[in-house]
Amino acid sequence: MSAMDYDNDELIFLEDDGSTDEHVVLGKDWNVLIVDDDEEIHTVTRLALADLVVNDRKLNFIHAYSAKQAKELLHEYGSTIAIILLDVVMETDDAGFEVVKYIREDMNLLEPRIILRTGQPGYAPEEQVIKLYDINDYKTKTELTRAKLLTTIISSLRSYQQIVTISQNRTGLEKIIASSANLFEEHSVKAFCEGVVTQISSLIGLDSEGLLCARAGSLIDREDEDVYVLGAAGEYAKFINKPIQELNSAEIAENIARCLRLKKHIFEHNFSVLFISRAGFEAAVFVRQTHEINELDKHLLEVFLSSISVGYENVNLFHELRNAAFRDWLTRLPNRNEFINMLDKPHIFACEDCCVALIDVNHFSDINDGLGQEVGNDLLRAISDRFLSSFDDSVKKGRIGADVFGLIGPEAVVNPESINELFSSTFVVEDHTLPVNVTIGFCRLDKKRNIGIEILKRTNIALNRAKKNLTDNYEFYAKDIEDQTTWRLDMIRRLRSDFAARKLELWFQPQVDLLNEQVVGMEALLRWPDGNGGFISPAVFVPLAEYSGLIVDIGEWVLEEACSRLQKLKELGYGHLRVAVNISIPQFRDRLFVEKVKLALSTAECDPSLLELEITESVVMDEPQIVIDALRALKEHGVQIAIDDFGTGFSSMSYLQQLPLDRLKVDRSFVKDVKPGASAVLAETIVTLGNKLGLLTIAEGVEKREQASYMIKLGCDEAQGFLYAKPMPFAELLAFLESQK
Ligand code: C2E
Ligand code: CA
Ligand code: CA
Repeated sequence: MSAMDYDNDELIFLEDDGSTDEHVVLGKDWNVLIVDDDEEIHTVTRLALADLVVNDRKLNFIHAYSAKQAKELLHEYGSTIAIILLDVVMETDDAGFEVVKYIREDMNLLEPRIILRTGQPGYAPEEQVIKLYDINDYKTKTELTRAKLLTTIISSLRSYQQIVTISQNRTGLEKIIASSANLFEEHSVKAFCEGVVTQISSLIGLDSEGLLCARAGSLIDREDEDVYVLGAAGEYAKFINKPIQELNSAEIAENIARCLRLKKHIFEHNFSVLFISRAGFEAAVFVRQTHEINELDKHLLEVFLSSISVGYENVNLFHELRNAAFRDWLTRLPNRNEFINMLDKPHIFACEDCCVALIDVNHFSDINDGLGQEVGNDLLRAISDRFLSSFDDSVKKGRIGADVFGLIGPEAVVNPESINELFSSTFVVEDHTLPVNVTIGFCRLDKKRNIGIEILKRTNIALNRAKKNLTDNYEFYAKDIEDQTTWRLDMIRRLRSDFAARKLELWFQPQVDLLNEQVVGMEALLRWPDGNGGFISPAVFVPLAEYSGLIVDIGEWVLEEACSRLQKLKELGYGHLRVAVNISIPQFRDRLFVEKVKLALSTAECDPSLLELEITESVVMDEPQIVIDALRALKEHGVQIAIDDFGTGFSSMSYLQQLPLDRLKVDRSFVKDVKPGASAVLAETIVTLGNKLGLLTIAEGVEKREQASYMIKLGCDEAQGFLYAKPMPFAELLAFLESQK
């Protein structure tokens, strides 16, 4: 339905600005279409405009929550919609612009006035610490719209009314609308102003000779009150952005000044000066003509000017919205949205060997909590400033999260060394001198992959890996990391459920006296059935269990199971055999660990000296004091302690000497090579060291007879390996022990 076939039940007399005196046929209320995916914005807008009455008519709100729905409603209401308040970012970053195009091009719907808005805010300071990237801050949006909403709505309604009026009478309409629609597409002030001049000239059938001038203070970032040429066509084009004096035309300068002073149009026989006034912006358009402008043309110009001033406001609004949607409020750097947009098209900055970095400020929340948010904000600004002053424009900068910055640029610049260099000196904020440490994730861009959000995700994966990296503060993204991450998460999930379903098994590998080959004990080793008759190696899943913390519960079960097997062995006449159990670092961090070991022993009524705990050197080094304290307590209880994989870690002897050890397990890599050589020398050293410390030594991974002989020669006491027996289920162990009798 268009305005023209709308019910002819009410005639409205326009008298607001004297520019028209036609009777116009319109509906009872002004239809205002609100398009926004945010329910809150609908409510807020409705509340803000609820009492507005323009020309004795109230507003009737129509609500759409997506671009798709907006299109449907547009078909239903057509040009009876006076104003469309349109959210820019909905289903997609530019869903709103798509709707604009659809209205003007596909539907050829020219009457409704369009006001763009967006719901992408900066971060509210108090929400900064919340590490959410996309927070819809309604206040910000309300602030942005509220101040402008009323004036914009009123002037847009006026403009809509004029257009509808004209559309019933004038043939020039299409041209006007097309002109302002064209202008609407222009997103820069310069292009807009040029467009205005061109459109005016063509409207009144003139050559494109004219210029638009405005006072600097009102528009461009200059502080003087001079009048500048903002847009021009024809011979004046070269004066754009110059002060009007440079035209060397007293006639133009004087008349423009007069127009701006009188705030009125001036029509002379060979030129006109048209006055544009809008929300503090005042401009004059000087047009040269060969004949005096007739009344009809004057009228057309009037309408056009009123409609372009809305267009101008749109241009301005568009800029503001773009800033709100794509700039970080604190540092003015591009925000996450804009950073993703930049990543979508890295080729634009012609970056060879382009690299993306995410830089996370370590312990930023401590600064915020300890020194206050103001200092926190200042620090973020100082960091942003350092990026800006250290890296030129070839490096794009952004603030991606509360304390996460982003860089895109050539790897020659965007690399661990130069970024770390940047943070090697302290930051001075107010009275504080703050050293700042960062963690950095990198992702190299290749020519093919340029989906911004994907690249950001990858860089973030690298950043998370970097946080776990113990030696460096950075990590580069590699595809396998991502696959690995997915795979790891899946394995952990399965391990958790299989453990809960009691599917894990504990197998045992005999340990023998090297000299007489009598079984002296066994090592308990976890087995995880893969469901196809095979087993997933503990070398694979134990690290995952450690990573996920699952090892604490699994380890507790291993201890219980081992102790109950010890009890069974005693019953069967093997009361002299010990069982060795592997213990991981997260178990030591469990405050109840010592108690749990004691409980497992007492529940199964086991002699504590038959339980041996195996710990690797890295476990000791990880948290020496916790481990030393726990082991001392357990040693006092009678439990035995062995150092596993000895020789592969880099233990500090001072720690080892503090441990209440019973046994050194010589790692299999030293046992393997019995011919004279480096590893054999090490095997000898380890055994000698063990002997000197008064410890027993056991050789791991003995597979061959000559390895056993060699270890005997070195003075090693015990052995474990395939030569004697492989790890086996408990039932098989019993049969094995039986056969050895
Ligand atoms: P580990 O403590 O060094 O265990 C010895 C590993 O060497 C076992 O591998 C065993 O099957 C293997 N092995 C024994 N004799 C030979 C031999 O002659 N030749 C060769 N090539 N290998 C031999 P497994 O059972 O796959 O266990 C791997 C690792 O998983 C263990 O290394 C241990 O670090 C960890 N693990 C196993 N069970 C547990 C557990 O209950 N708790 C914890 N925290 N870790 C466990
Ligand atoms: Ca072990
Ligand atoms: Ca070992």
